[in-house]
Amino acid sequence: MMSDPSSQELSAFVGFSGNPLDRLSELRDDAGKVAALARQDDARSLVFVADTPVLKQGEAGLEAFFTLAEVEALGPRLEQVLLGRTDEATVFATLLRPETAGRAEANGPLAIPGREDLALVDLRSLAAKAQLERPVIAMMAQAKSVLFWHDRHRFCSRCGAPSAMASAGWKRECAACGTQHFPRTDPVVIMLATRGDRCLLGRQARFAPGMYSALAGFLEPGETIEEAVRREVMEEAGIRVGAVTYMASQPWPFPATLMIGCLVEALGDEITVDHTELEDARWFTRAEVQEMLGGEHANGLGAPQPIAIARSLMRVWAFAQIEKF
Ligand SMILES: [Zn+2]
Repeated sequence: MMSDPSSQELSAFVGFSGNPLDRLSELRDDAGKVAALARQDDARSLVFVADTPVLKQGEAGLEAFFTLAEVEALGPRLEQVLLGRTDEATVFATLLRPETAGRAEANGPLAIPGREDLALVDLRSLAAKAQLERPVIAMMAQAKSVLFWHDRHRFCSRCGAPSAMASAGWKRECAACGTQHFPRTDPVVIMLATRGDRCLLGRQARFAPGMYSALAGFLEPGETIEEAVRREVMEEAGIRVGAVTYMASQPWPFPATLMIGCLVEALGDEITVDHTELEDARWFTRAEVQEMLGGEHANGLGAPQPIAIARSLMRVWAFAQIEKF
């Protein structure tokens, strides 16, 4: 791996990265070839009901891949997308109709009736607990984001007529007005503002108790990454910031975001918290961040979980090294 240039990239170590698929984009418009790939013995599919992955519960743990015959047996589907090809298999992603799964009790687990051999487990939990191999988690992220887009874009946003999947799932077309629609990825800037030996972290009310993280916000139309970073830190914490350094990016499939991780130099000390966005924001010393990352902060304060790019940014700044997980 030392000769692989990506092994030096911080992005290679963040959660949901490391997707091994050749996306076969040159084949997407050839429906005959895509159908032929689906008929081959090495065709497999990841399966979702709404936003939730469907998994096989085997002796050795959870298994994500279904043969296409197994997918057919699960019931009618909304869409099937060609994700790409690994060394072993052509991989599709299938979105089953939402009524395929349900809950026996109001607060019970989501399940497919009569299929006790299957488990429906949300992707955040699968990734956080590393219940599948990293490359499979990355393929799941691709599948979840593109299937989410199909599920929420069934009608043309220009004229309101129903749209239809095309290009093996990488486009939708409107027959009524001719508009083509492409899957969305929404960019979010996430940044660690630093000043000397301290960095700025904030917490939202919905965070786990005591957890502090890097500030973040959606990049808006007409903005550079650097402009979005400077605007967000000013809006959320009232801190003017200068030079922005890009560090890493991360596909974040909740639902279809690209996190753009940066370090940025703060030009002032005095924080004014925007309480509509944040419960608190304050400066932390490097030693304190090291304790938070190690789970040994005296007041019980903590850092985001390892799948979060915010933790990678904090780790790089606090220890000047990449944290593998
Ligand atoms: Zn239309």
